[in-house]
Amino acid sequence: SEMRNERIKKTKTVCTYCGVGCSFDVWTKDREILKIEPQQEAPANGISTCVKGKFGWDFVNSEERLKKPLIREGDGFREAEWEEALNLIASKFKGIKEEHGPDALSFISSSKCTNEESYLMQKLGRAVIGTNNIDNCSRYCQTPATMGLFRTVGHGGDSGGIKDIEQSELILVIGSNTSESHPVLATRIKRSHKLHKQKLIVADLRKHEMAERSDLFVKPNPGSDIVWLSAVTKYIVDKGWADQSFLDEKVNGLTDYVRSLEPYTMDYAAEATGIAKEDLIKIAEMIHEAETVCALWAMGVTQHLGGSDTSTAISNLLLITGNYAKPGAGTYPLRGHNNVQGASDFGSMPDRFPSYERVTDPAVRAKYEKGWGVKLPAEPGLNNHQMIEGIHRGTLKAMYLKGEDMGVVDSNMNHVHAAYEKLDFFVVQDIFFTRTAQFADVVLPASPSLEKEGTFTNTERRIQRLYQVLEPLGESKPDWKIITEIANRLGADWKYDHPSEIMAEAAQLAPLFAGVNYDRLEGYKSLQWPVAEDGTDTPLLFTDGFPFPDGKARLVPVEWTAPVTYEPDYDIHVNNGRLLEHFHEGNMTYQSKGITSKTPRTFLEVSAALAEEKGFKTGSLIRLVSPYGQVKVQAHVTDRVRGKEVYLPMNDNGEAAINLLTSSHADKDTDTPAYKEVKAKLEVLETE
Ligand code: SF4
Repeated sequence: SEMRNERIKKTKTVCTYCGVGCSFDVWTKDREILKIEPQQEAPANGISTCVKGKFGWDFVNSEERLKKPLIREGDGFREAEWEEALNLIASKFKGIKEEHGPDALSFISSSKCTNEESYLMQKLGRAVIGTNNIDNCSRYCQTPATMGLFRTVGHGGDSGGIKDIEQSELILVIGSNTSESHPVLATRIKRSHKLHKQKLIVADLRKHEMAERSDLFVKPNPGSDIVWLSAVTKYIVDKGWADQSFLDEKVNGLTDYVRSLEPYTMDYAAEATGIAKEDLIKIAEMIHEAETVCALWAMGVTQHLGGSDTSTAISNLLLITGNYAKPGAGTYPLRGHNNVQGASDFGSMPDRFPSYERVTDPAVRAKYEKGWGVKLPAEPGLNNHQMIEGIHRGTLKAMYLKGEDMGVVDSNMNHVHAAYEKLDFFVVQDIFFTRTAQFADVVLPASPSLEKEGTFTNTERRIQRLYQVLEPLGESKPDWKIITEIANRLGADWKYDHPSEIMAEAAQLAPLFAGVNYDRLEGYKSLQWPVAEDGTDTPLLFTDGFPFPDGKARLVPVEWTAPVTYEPDYDIHVNNGRLLEHFHEGNMTYQSKGITSKTPRTFLEVSAALAEEKGFKTGSLIRLVSPYGQVKVQAHVTDRVRGKEVYLPMNDNGEAAINLLTSSHADKDTDTPAYKEVKAKLEVLETE
């Protein structure tokens, strides 16, 4: 709304930094951001924000922002007009499609972009080019969680909302550094823990802040979560503590599942996980004693060879104990980026249309063929991981990537960079000249969230509107406009003038969003999917049964996949994850002076025992060498990690980038990289 001094404005937006989905007003004077003002009516956060939401916005005015398209010329780039850049892209895409077929092209959407932009990216790939080679970066984090939930309960999203987490009697946090990765959500848990006697169990390799505050902290051996989860579930069944009436009424597959638990005795689990048997029994007892349990998990679970199976085991445990379909209970895979949920919800996946309908389902395809007026490919496409292999094989020739610094974020960086060099044509669309952009043939300047309209979906399936705060900087454009211009140069006739029109189209085709429209999302109004045509939304899932033909959930037997093995001299286990102050690969927060003044560079957390053994101290320069590459980083001695387990924050994009060490091993069901299964040798370069 315009204020008396018309240069001063306040505009509602949604935070772009994590899946909690805080919303607030941004006060601006011209392009200057005066302050962030949270509002009571904000559904996810009320009057709270964290340091990133409050101070992390000056990147929008950074000198480093891309302001014009760039076209490769020799070893460098030259600035170009939009017309020239877009025409070049269209002619290259056309040429490659004609010569090698539509499956020689690939499209990667972004979990930082809006729902509408993810919808358009998959529509471009499917309807205009004719390929299902479409994915987004949740492949790097939460796809295994989605898979585990699809198998067991049928919806790939949080069972309830932040309110349910607040009112639950017991919170189980597994492989999530919640206070640094989802700060405002963690604050809610801390408050409930203090005021309402909510109990907290944390399982993690690292004794982080939530672990410090917990009633019970257990430290499993790396990659062994599925073992203790299954043993606890078996113990509950054996004790007769399963919720029998819930199981009888609402769940299939009990007999086979219980049989599959046989090997998971407490003794076996204690041995395999390194967790004391008393602690395992205590977990089972605490779950039994609680009326309501919420399980929260993140990358510590998903980024393993068995990430989907461990996610499945979490869901199995909650089914056995009847912790679904009631307030204060359920499964909560915590989404990392602001729109991880939405990027997949709106169809940027190689096997799913928006709403997770399968591309292999002829009836669904027929619906989209009618809606879009084209013939659509029937075979699932390549995921991110398979795309890199496809390039190395020589079958994938072109890639259009938006809003992801994949060359830093994907595992086994050196292997990924070698793939980029083989591409015939590579388009990177971003707000900064990223490390990945260095490999591009054309770089397109996009606009960040503050410069556009659209919607994001937070971790609790809540769809919220963001309003344009600033004009796009320089000649940058919102991603949805750029995609539209490319599509139209390839023969489409898209007429979108505003993202609300894109949402209206998606709502017509995708059942989960049937009743979503911009009027129903005005201001601080929001909707949690599924949204019925009359606008009724679903804060708590499964109260009317599970979305399977007979309305029943499914217990799914899973087995432990042991972690990747390394030669014995790779003796250091390199855990990795976020830092509170920085966002993911850091390409926005490293541009924010408000943030870098607090946490300028990354460091390696090491135990005192390791420091003593190798003869170094805090401040010493360390080299880690894995079979795939090496990093240089300063040591920080701490009691948060133990023995030969070290922790490297993932927010560095230079010589301490974690993905110089990671491998191409991946979750066997989803191809999500096993980022957490890294071993290295440690060398001391300088003792300070
Ligand atoms: Fe933004 Fe997440 Fe912080 Fe909220 S908790 S302000 S959404 S980074």
